[in-house]
Amino acid sequence: MDLAANLDEIRRRIGSACARVGRDPGLVHLVAVSKGQPPAAVDAAVAAGQLLFGENKVQEARAKIPLCSGRASWQMIGHLQTNKCRAAVELFGMVHSVDSLHLARELQRWAERRERRIEVLLEVNLAGESSKFGYRPEILRREWAELRGLPDLAFRGLMTLAPWTPDPEKARPVFRGLRELREQLQDEFQADLPHLSMGMSGDFEVAVAEGATLVRIGTALFGPRPPRMASPAENPPSL
Ligand SMILES: *Cc1c(COP(=O)(O)O)cnc(C)c1O
Repeated sequence: MDLAANLDEIRRRIGSACARVGRDPGLVHLVAVSKGQPPAAVDAAVAAGQLLFGENKVQEARAKIPLCSGRASWQMIGHLQTNKCRAAVELFGMVHSVDSLHLARELQRWAERRERRIEVLLEVNLAGESSKFGYRPEILRREWAELRGLPDLAFRGLMTLAPWTPDPEKARPVFRGLRELREQLQDEFQADLPHLSMGMSGDFEVAVAEGATLVRIGTALFGPRPPRMASPAENPPSL
């Protein structure tokens, strides 16, 4: 597995997806999803020029981040439990997965205590799958004013997970729906929501065509995730 070659290939594919729709590829940021990967994989990506990483579990991130290059910066992309907000504020520059007022208030509480401002995205459940986390759009609208009143959370945009499907075109309506919701919210609330976090290894080109600014890519970059990682410290680097 040649990580630098994978990275080049992903960048090339992002570039051509942008070219097809006339977007500036400089506005599409790659979040390298390092969940399940050892620190050595992160450091190899850093050496190849990738500095932004996404993790989906606070516990794994807390163990891994201190073992990785200090040049890496980190974002939380997975579901966040309220009892992990304190660590999340300390570890991450951005949380993609804010999906309730309760969670946002808890993040605010810790951001204030730590005198930090944290960037957040609101996760939206557009596919209406009950198994998924995320705001329903009507609830997001209802809570909007209160969310925006939280002073230490910088609301930067929206995030969604498309249902898994072998045909990435099937994800397009979900990605388009997120872009349209962003436009509606910007109009309704005079908000500035520059980021759309959408697209993973199997469907990122479609997401980019629909306006993604953050694509979250794991397996296409790092290869398949190792079966299970007990803790990074117990897992000697294997790259
Ligand atoms: C794992 C994960 C990804 C990346 O998935 P790949 O298919 O490996 O690219 C993206 N987003 C979230 C929220 C994830 O948990």
